[in-house]
Amino acid sequence: MNIAILSRGPGLYSTQSLLIAGQRRGHRMYLIDYMDCSLVLEGNRPRVYYKEERLGRIDAIIPRIGASGTFYGASVIKHFEMMGVYTTLPSEPLLRARNKLRSLQLLSRSPHIQFPKTVFGHFNQNVDFLLDSVGGIPVVIKLLRGTHGLGVILAKNRSTAESVIESFQKLKERIIVQEFIQESAGEDIRALVVGGEIVAAMKRKARPGEFRSNLHRGGSSIHIKLTSAEINSALEAVRLLGIRVAGVDMLQSNRGPLLLEVNPSPGLEGIETTTKVDVAGKIIELIERQAGQ
Ligand code: ADP
Repeated sequence: MNIAILSRGPGLYSTQSLLIAGQRRGHRMYLIDYMDCSLVLEGNRPRVYYKEERLGRIDAIIPRIGASGTFYGASVIKHFEMMGVYTTLPSEPLLRARNKLRSLQLLSRSPHIQFPKTVFGHFNQNVDFLLDSVGGIPVVIKLLRGTHGLGVILAKNRSTAESVIESFQKLKERIIVQEFIQESAGEDIRALVVGGEIVAAMKRKARPGEFRSNLHRGGSSIHIKLTSAEINSALEAVRLLGIRVAGVDMLQSNRGPLLLEVNPSPGLEGIETTTKVDVAGKIIELIERQAGQ
C-alpha cells in the first residue's frame, strides 16, 4: 500500500517508528508535512497538492498532528477523507478530542467512565463557587489549551487558588478547576488503544517534588497490566470519541479509574521503550485490516 505519515517532524521518534514499521511490512511510505499541503476544490474532485505538486495515489494516511497544528491538520485530513483515503485519525474526532472540555462533556453520560470532579465557568464566574463545587482546597487548575502538563497547577491553599483563577480570568484564558486526587500522588496511567484494543499500557511517575507525571516534565515510566475497570473506561472513551488510535490517560483513585484525557496523536517513544511493544507495527496492521474496506 501507499501510506503517508502526516507529520511536521521527520526526525521525531514516532514518525521514524511508523516509517520503519510500514517499510518492514512492504509498504511504500511517504512523509508529508501537512503544513505544506494545499487543498484544491474544483468540480467534485478534491485534490491535495504537496509543495505545489499533485500527490499521487495514497491508500491510507497516519496523521500525527501537534496541538498547534490542529485546525489546518484537521482540514488536510478532511480533504483526504473526501478523496476516499483511509485515515487512522478522522478529522471530526481529532477536533472533538482536542477540545478537552467538549470531550469530557461527551463522555460524561457513560456509566463506565468516571472523572475527577471538574468545573468550568465563564470568565466572570464566582471563584468561591468554583472552588467549593469541586470540594475545596487542594484543587488542580488547568488551562483548557495546555499540553504536556504545561498550564496544570496544583493550588494547595485558597488564596493561591483564588489569585491563579482570577489572573486567568483577567487574561481571558479558559480554565477548568478539578478536585486534586491525592492518592494518585504524582502517578497516572496511559493506555494505548489501537483499533478498539489496548495494545500497551504504562504507569508514569512524577519526579520528586512534582505532581505532574508527564514524561515531558521529567517523569519515569513502567510497564503495567490494567484492571478490567481501566480497560473498560479506556475502550469506552475511545469508542465514544470515534478515535482509532489514542493514548488514554487515567488516574488510579480509591473510587476506581478517573479519566483525564484522550490524546488523539499519542507519542510512541515513551510507550514503546517502556513496554517493548511495537505500537507502530500495530498501527500499520490496523491499516492493513481496515483500509479499502
Ligand atoms: P496535560 O494534558 O497537559 O498532560 P493533564 O490533565 O494530563 O494535562 O495533567 C498532567 C498531569 O498532572 C497528569 O499526568 C497527572 O499526573 C497530574 N494531574 C492532572 N490532574 C490531576 C488531578 N485532578 N489530581 C491529581 N493529579 C492530577
